[in-house]
Amino acid sequence: MRTVTTFADFRKEQQGSVGLTPTMGYLHEGHLSLIHAAAEANDTVVVSLFVNPLQFTEDIDLAVYPRDLDRDARLVEDAGADVLFAPSIDEVYPEPPLTAVTVSKVSEGMEGEHRKGHFAGVAIVVAKLLAGIQPDRAYFGRKDAQQLAVVTRMAADLSFPVEVVGCPTVREHDGLALSSRNTRLSRQDRGAALALFAGLEAVAEAVEGGEGAAAALEAIARAPIAAEPRANIEYVTLASQAEATPLRGLDAPAFLAVTARVGTTRLIDNVHIDSAGDRWVADLGIRLDGPSILYEEG
Ligand code: AMP
Repeated sequence: MRTVTTFADFRKEQQGSVGLTPTMGYLHEGHLSLIHAAAEANDTVVVSLFVNPLQFTEDIDLAVYPRDLDRDARLVEDAGADVLFAPSIDEVYPEPPLTAVTVSKVSEGMEGEHRKGHFAGVAIVVAKLLAGIQPDRAYFGRKDAQQLAVVTRMAADLSFPVEVVGCPTVREHDGLALSSRNTRLSRQDRGAALALFAGLEAVAEAVEGGEGAAAALEAIARAPIAAEPRANIEYVTLASQAEATPLRGLDAPAFLAVTARVGTTRLIDNVHIDSAGDRWVADLGIRLDGPSILYEEG
């Protein structure tokens, strides 16, 4: 595996089809699953590692974001990637950008409403990665379902010649969606965080039992989270996969998103819902058998 720090160096030696997995580092099995998916379909797999300041809406979140380049480089190589692209801030933003990438509608609800400016930061950095790396395919997690919708629409609207591929959410052994933020949960908050998964599991069961009304599904998701004193719900919304806009009921491929603060940590999760002929099928993703590499000692 080679490590490169500039777009030009990456393109100089590039041959064959390219699969890109953008990350902000401190990798876990969710990221590794994207790398594996990229390796199956492309000649070259490049993993970008860039903590993008423009997408953080709280300074403290950026300041405490975990970083460990040596650990990440080892994991990227073991996962079968060919290139680690680890640019400096100056490489990505030689000047503060005067150009905005705004994906209206898709960016406006849910995360867009609660984290003003977040998707503007995501859209510009992904546009820069697509322009600079020129991948054939780019891999994103359904864990961030609205982000996946924003990126898919941005790439289509701007005619980037890339296929955006959404990959299933990877969860810890007990169901909590993997996130580098999980390492910040106290032992008690870690237990309380399971309320989000409990809500989503109940939604999956209800969907498969034939429930399709947004109000009913949202109430089912809320119940265990509202009953958990350490958790504070920010929003619970049934939204369309394509536009991330609220639905009144299941009449298009959807996701039911839940976002809550557990202690001081903000957690987001969702269950993916697709149609299968005349019924709806809920997909919670994949669970690990044992502890995540997030908790391995350095
Ligand atoms: P991040 O480093 O948090 O910006 O995430 C990089 C990519 O990994 C994004 O496409 C995320 O959606 C994806 N990702 C993060 N957590 C998970 C997870 N638990 N399962 C699958 N994909 C994930």
